[in-house]
Amino acid sequence: MKITDHLKNAKSTLFSFEILPPLKGQSLKELLEGIEPLMEFKPPFVDVTYHREEYIYKKHPNGLLEKVSTKKRPGTVGICAAIMNRFHVDAVPHLLCGGFSKEETENALIDLNFIGVENVLALRGDAPKTEGKFIPEKNGHHFASELVDQIIRMNQGKYLHEETETSFHTNFCVGVAGYPEKHFEAPSMKFDLKYLKEKVDRGAEYIVTQMFFDNEKFFEFERNVRAAGIDVPIIPGLKPITTLSQITMLPRTFFLDLPDALTDELLKCKTNAEVKEIGIEWAIQQSKELVKAGVPSLHFYTMSKAEATYKIAKEVF
Ligand code: FAD
Repeated sequence: MKITDHLKNAKSTLFSFEILPPLKGQSLKELLEGIEPLMEFKPPFVDVTYHREEYIYKKHPNGLLEKVSTKKRPGTVGICAAIMNRFHVDAVPHLLCGGFSKEETENALIDLNFIGVENVLALRGDAPKTEGKFIPEKNGHHFASELVDQIIRMNQGKYLHEETETSFHTNFCVGVAGYPEKHFEAPSMKFDLKYLKEKVDRGAEYIVTQMFFDNEKFFEFERNVRAAGIDVPIIPGLKPITTLSQITMLPRTFFLDLPDALTDELLKCKTNAEVKEIGIEWAIQQSKELVKAGVPSLHFYTMSKAEATYKIAKEVF
């Protein structure tokens, strides 16, 4: 079912979450067993991230280094099929501009349609860690809005290089990312909202936000999004802090602020167990306030570890 239909049919705030494909060489069994407890809270959909290639240096016997590209977390499409088969929920694969030509995107969408996927989250992706800035693939998309456009055109039966519309139309519901604390490359929130609107104008039907730890930031974002004339559902993304190192890692990686009240509490902790307790409690309070405000779904970034999200959901749903 489409995410928009799940949201329309819901009588209260839904529970949903995101997982990462396992690292190459690790089994899927562990991941699926790990998230099984979360099914208790009846998620209508589970997002599966996509990870583009990264560059590594391979050492040859002659001592020379060769730069090669490799995917550390392949398998997004297969995991979507496995999730739908095993849990009978919708799987939402993330699809990137980065690393894909338009033809590869078209083929990936055909694969996804054939396995019964009805929703995709369309994203630009970031530059590989070793590259400074995002560079689109040759004949690939520069921005997520162009990817949205391609998906919507396929929904209309318009394939690349085909002169006429085909009789077979895909029917994807497309979600996109939004940033309560602004995307790090955008010079201003106003600029970022202009391009968020472009994604919606091109056919995106819902927004999932980057994680945030201060609900006021989300509520302000929501007001600004509405003022910009965007009226699709906004699903807040949440992540409980579980280790002390995340106090610096999360702001550095995701360009967000942690509230002083949270950081002060975390810095008093002597063990990671205490940190986890504070992080979970903070996320519970955030979740309760968001549910009270009537958000359509609480979307948890689990990093494929279900324990903290389970404890939060148990208190909230
Ligand atoms: P865009 O919407 O294309 O925006 C990127 C930047 O360009 C913004 O600053 C925007 O303001 C600006 N911009 C947009 N259009 C234009 C234009 N026409 N002209 C000038 N500037 C423009 N990454 C992954 O690699 N895999 C994942 O699975 C993944 N999942 C994610 C899920 C969520 C919910 C979120 C919030 C992020 C996720 N990301 C993922 C990270 C994402 O790929 C990065 O944040 C990326 O830097 C931006 O992606 P976007 O789709 O928001 O880009």
